[in-house]
Amino acid sequence: MIPKRIGIIGAGIAGLACATELSKAGHHVTLFDKSRGVGGRMSHRHYEKWGADHGAQYFTAKNPRFIEEAQRWLNAGVIEPWDAKIVSLTDGVISPLEGNTERYVGVPAMTAPAKFLAQELDVKVSTNIIEIRQINDLWRVVSKEEGLLHFSFDFLISAIPSVQASGLVAGYSNELKEVCSRVKMLPCWTLMAYFKNPLPLDFDGAFVNHHLFSWIARDNAKPGRSVYESWVAQASNQWSHENLAFTQFEIEPILVKVFEDLTGQVCDLYQTHLWRYSKLETPSEQNCVSDFSVRLGLCGDWLRNSTVEGAWLSGYFMGRSLIETKEA
Ligand SMILES: Cc1cc2nc3c(=O)[nH]c(=O)nc-3n(C[C@H](O)[C@H](O)[C@H](O)COP(=O)(O)OP(=O)(O)OC[C@H]3O[C@@H](n4cnc5c(N)ncnc54)[C@H](O)[C@@H]3O)c2cc1C
Repeated sequence: MIPKRIGIIGAGIAGLACATELSKAGHHVTLFDKSRGVGGRMSHRHYEKWGADHGAQYFTAKNPRFIEEAQRWLNAGVIEPWDAKIVSLTDGVISPLEGNTERYVGVPAMTAPAKFLAQELDVKVSTNIIEIRQINDLWRVVSKEEGLLHFSFDFLISAIPSVQASGLVAGYSNELKEVCSRVKMLPCWTLMAYFKNPLPLDFDGAFVNHHLFSWIARDNAKPGRSVYESWVAQASNQWSHENLAFTQFEIEPILVKVFEDLTGQVCDLYQTHLWRYSKLETPSEQNCVSDFSVRLGLCGDWLRNSTVEGAWLSGYFMGRSLIETKEA
């Protein structure tokens, strides 16, 4: 195998899984992420002594390859099972959930597995890639912060949500542009609510039905968290979509009021966040897509399923497909 120089835009779990496979196979991989840290939507927000996972809440593992990876994360101590009391909440009535789903969370925060993978990789953070260029048959990238960067790549992979990926690759590949355009991603307004005293609610997480919120959870019930009472409440994708045009300052009082009405408790402190591309509308089975004629690839949850497992598998398969192909 001749080692290739491979660039990956996006150091969420998909980009990191892809980079891990390619690095193990001997390729030279560089990742770029616009954020200050890695993990993307597997994220955690600190607020004074409080804090909460405000993106992915927990994950499950069903695919044998991902089960193996989750076991590696367990062995490394970066995830733990979340033995939580999860209920469904419908019009004020609490019902236990059927089934015995094994849920995992990153420890001490949801970012932990991403940080674990990134330790072995070359990641350039705070680097927002705004353009890609083909120069002398190699790929170069342009960042908002520094302009044309000095790296050159034989193959370039986008591991970012479809709308953002389209903006980068559309000028070079109609095939990839078309793949991006087929996908719809849904928004999610999220409230992080912090309390001086524990809430007297007899559950750690609730799927809420017929309501503005679709999920609420006590973040400090997760292993390794701050002891201070911190809740996350995620608005339904439909409500978030209908209220996308409003600003954070307009939405915040609505989310706080509705959370207080639902729980009967007054929030001491709060923050809000809009996930513009929180999840894929319809799961797909593509895993990843490449246009070998221009040496560009796409991966990310949106090519499979908007779960940590789906994103990891998409990145893993992107890496494997490059390792196994004779075309690149
Ligand atoms: C509110 C919410 C709740 C969720 N709940 C769950 C859950 O309970 N269980 C579950 O399994 N999954 C959940 N998910 C889904 C899960 O978080 C995602 O499917 C998964 O993390 C996506 O990983 P990814 O690597 O494909 O994308 P991302 O995590 O979005 O990573 C993409 C990365 O690319 C970076 N980036 C974007 N554009 C650029 C650019 N131009 N230049 C450089 N970097 C760029 C971003 O900063 C980001 O770090 C949830 C998601 C959200 C938003």
